[in-house]
Amino acid sequence: LEHIREIFAVLAELGITKVKITGGEPTIRSDIVDIVKAASDAGMEDVSMTTNGTMFADLAEALCDAGLKRVNISLDTLDSRKYRFITGASLLENVKRSICRAVELGLNPVKINMVVLKGINENEIGRMIDFARDARATLQLIELVDHTPQRGVFEKYHVDLSGLEKWLAAEAKKIIVREEMHARPKYILRDVEVEVIRPMHNTVFCANCKRIRITPDGNIKPCLLRDDNLVDISPLLGRGDYGGLKKAFLDAISYREPFFR
Ligand code: SF4
Repeated sequence: LEHIREIFAVLAELGITKVKITGGEPTIRSDIVDIVKAASDAGMEDVSMTTNGTMFADLAEALCDAGLKRVNISLDTLDSRKYRFITGASLLENVKRSICRAVELGLNPVKINMVVLKGINENEIGRMIDFARDARATLQLIELVDHTPQRGVFEKYHVDLSGLEKWLAAEAKKIIVREEMHARPKYILRDVEVEVIRPMHNTVFCANCKRIRITPDGNIKPCLLRDDNLVDISPLLGRGDYGGLKKAFLDAISYREPFFR
């Protein structure tokens, strides 16, 4: 937690105001509420989290009190059998409860992250749009990215979402392009917002990428799909070396470039 506080202090000095706590799974940290509080105490205005939602419901109120503003909850299917196949656990109801609780507490937006998987959940998109509308959440349809360590998984389950985007564009009442977020279009249909995250071979997405990541083992990661330009900050943490940390961030920022050109 002290290391994370140091990082937030440096980010604040660099003018960063948005932070997303991801994982792995952030809610397995026993000090997750303190981490969120550290982010807001450091001056982060927009503190968000990505979670699998299996344990989020019980923590939601404390996280909101600590300064959490919005949340992305992973839910790839509404079918309990498929949920177990994808995640290895029978916790679908926990996830649904987390989505309801997040909306109830006023987190905004609450986004449902659905990774579209060939032969698994492609046929559930319509049902998921209706579920998101009824839950008063936003649906994010996400393309499977080729960075899984298991060989063959990407080839087996990857779906090109360009056809789906064409369908959404035709069905949508309105389309909003979010310039600040990878120039991602947002489709408004059936009274729900649907976003498509299609990073693979997407030059527009990469050209508008404004994120930088910190890995759990203390590396700054300028691009999700690269491991050859990491900046290791682990030796600097715990020493109050704010100058060194600041330089490391500026170096990492200078290494950023679009992956797909
Ligand atoms: S530059 Fe890297 S992190 Fe950014 S959108 Fe492209 S692949 Fe993703």
